[in-house]
Amino acid sequence: MKLTEIQPREVFRYFEEISGIPRGSGNQEKISDYCLEFAREHGFKAERDSAFNVIIYKDGTPGYEAAEPVILQGHLDMVCQKEEDHPIDFEKDGLDLCRDGDYIKARGTTLGGDNGIAVAMMLAILASNTISHPPIEAVFTTDEEVGMLGAMALDMSKLKGRKMINMDSEEEDILTVSCAGGSEISMEIPLKREEKSGVYIRISVKGFKGGHSGVEIHKGRINANGLLARILQNAKSVAPFSLVSIDGGDKANAIPRSGTAILVTEDAAAFLQEVDRYGTIVKEELSAREPDFVLETEILPEPAGKAMVPEFSERLLYLLLCAPNGVQEMSVEIPNLVETSLNLGVLKTEAEQTTLCFALRSNKQSALTALEQRLLTFASCAECKTKLYGQYPPWEFKSDSALQTLYKEAYQKQFGKEPKVEAIHAGLECGVFAAALSGMDCISIGPNLYDVHTTEERMSISSVERIYGVVLDVLKSCQ
Ligand SMILES: [Zn+2]
Repeated sequence: MKLTEIQPREVFRYFEEISGIPRGSGNQEKISDYCLEFAREHGFKAERDSAFNVIIYKDGTPGYEAAEPVILQGHLDMVCQKEEDHPIDFEKDGLDLCRDGDYIKARGTTLGGDNGIAVAMMLAILASNTISHPPIEAVFTTDEEVGMLGAMALDMSKLKGRKMINMDSEEEDILTVSCAGGSEISMEIPLKREEKSGVYIRISVKGFKGGHSGVEIHKGRINANGLLARILQNAKSVAPFSLVSIDGGDKANAIPRSGTAILVTEDAAAFLQEVDRYGTIVKEELSAREPDFVLETEILPEPAGKAMVPEFSERLLYLLLCAPNGVQEMSVEIPNLVETSLNLGVLKTEAEQTTLCFALRSNKQSALTALEQRLLTFASCAECKTKLYGQYPPWEFKSDSALQTLYKEAYQKQFGKEPKVEAIHAGLECGVFAAALSGMDCISIGPNLYDVHTTEERMSISSVERIYGVVLDVLKSCQ
């Protein structure tokens, strides 16, 4: 279809063009070629680095030549999801766009409105001869969706601007002013095992809501790994057992929805009776927050491998019960914002070790570092091998932001009200820029996108028009 009939025309023209270029994470050479070619055609200075990040520089328009540059920023990559039977090769094929009322969608796949709409708005502004603006540094980053790798690799000394508009947010009425930084910590407990006689039992907890370990960590959702440990610990006093394995969750940054343990006990009847009794109490306790919780036990027909030596089985339960988990601190500056949290997302037992992986987050760097130190200290006292990795910096709230004020004024003109000012407890590329460039003043904004990262992703056309109008107004006021 042709989107060029849709307003703002120049934005949708570019959105349609880039939608024809495959640009999943890890596959951004072609889209970066396109950006370079765009710059060449328009006579703009541009640079590309080995991570395929592209920066395009455009001078200020008449009257704005001497103004401070403004950085416009969005990411080139998209999450590629498709309906099972939809024929597309994301390595080579473009998207099949369609319109549904006020929405743009892609047939059978993600739309890549996250963050193609930022790319399209930036290209439209660069290409325009009629928009008034200060010098622009348009930064197109890569691999945001797989750990913000492009932004991390970017040589920030290429940027002179200290005002940055990131366009990777997804709700038009929200002005984002801070994001979390984070890291991951893995703890590995080496296991000793022995032959053990008794009955082998599998116990599972499942049916939990799960969710994103940042934006959903304060919603009272149960961590399956922690609950499984609680049920086991309770049963131990009635019927001692040795663990064979305990597993739950597969991503550090997702709240695990199920967990399973295999154990061996000499008193299966007492164990099962106690789990059943206590399970009823726990179900009652969680009936409001986790109504679909299911607890299952099963006697295994034959031995399921060697058991952990009791000391290791004990240590594992100790770690699961006593490691910090969930919300650690709420913000005082920003109402309802989780400031610091962590999530035990992965619990995995292999023959010689059990590994626990935590995702840590904080909107304050010093609080994040303190939490890392706390968890590492806890783990080393329990004789675990630890690893700290995947670190990314937070974008801390700036109370004296000129850009926030300009945006609020422009927004007020367009919408007749103020935007909601929010901080998010998840990562944004703004954190990487703010940590690298001192005095950086950032905002993150964007038009309404729904169900991003799914095949239902859609973008509101009228919202793009409104937000684009606000961005142009902000640029006009940056004199
Ligand atoms: Zn995004």
